[in-house]
Amino acid sequence: MSVSCDCDGVCGVGCLCILSNGAVCDDRGCLESFDRAVLYECNSQCTCSRTCPNRTVQNGSNAPLQVYRAGAKGLALRTLSHLPAGKFICEYFGQVVRKKEALIREGLQNTNWIFVLREHISARNEVLCTYIDASQSFTLAKYMNHSCDANCAVFPVRVETIVPRLAIFALRDIDAEEELTLDYSGGGGGGGGGEIQSATYHQSRITCLCKSDKCKGYLPHDPKLF
Ligand SMILES: [Zn+2]
Ligand SMILES: [Zn+2]
Ligand SMILES: [Zn+2]
Repeated sequence: MSVSCDCDGVCGVGCLCILSNGAVCDDRGCLESFDRAVLYECNSQCTCSRTCPNRTVQNGSNAPLQVYRAGAKGLALRTLSHLPAGKFICEYFGQVVRKKEALIREGLQNTNWIFVLREHISARNEVLCTYIDASQSFTLAKYMNHSCDANCAVFPVRVETIVPRLAIFALRDIDAEEELTLDYSGGGGGGGGGEIQSATYHQSRITCLCKSDKCKGYLPHDPKLF
């Protein structure tokens, strides 16, 4: 539910936004809860300051991120300093497109940058799909590789609009220099559960290079994604 508050300074106890929807992040910029289905930040109608912790995602991340070459995996993303569990890492920016357009673009792109977010709207018992194409965007998130034991996940956060922002948070403490990964099958991502379609998911059986103990051997493969 999109509400607004009339707080002075930073929001806290008594804030109408937080009372209605819960806080998205605490004052360290870390996710308050990993299993809340819908996350709303303060919006332009709110009178709180720009530094309100309930504006963490809209204010952008300060995590020190770096794109680097990770051997056979190609490009990858890592953090240069320790990140605590729940830390907001970055946003998967892109152009929101309709399903029909997403299908066309998917066919044209060599590497598929279209993120499909599926949200289960329990009140209406339906699945809301949002398609976000990052091919033309400079988002660092698109360099995150798949891992079967990912240390990050995507959580849909709404600020002003029905269309959510794809906010990526740390699922656990992450060491400096550690690679940041997502589970492309959508695992770990709170109530939403997003799925980045890998470039090659149409071809069956792509070897997974995550090297985690939980590696399933292959990248997620779901021919019914769209
Ligand atoms: Zn606020
Ligand atoms: Zn407030
Ligand atoms: Zn507010």
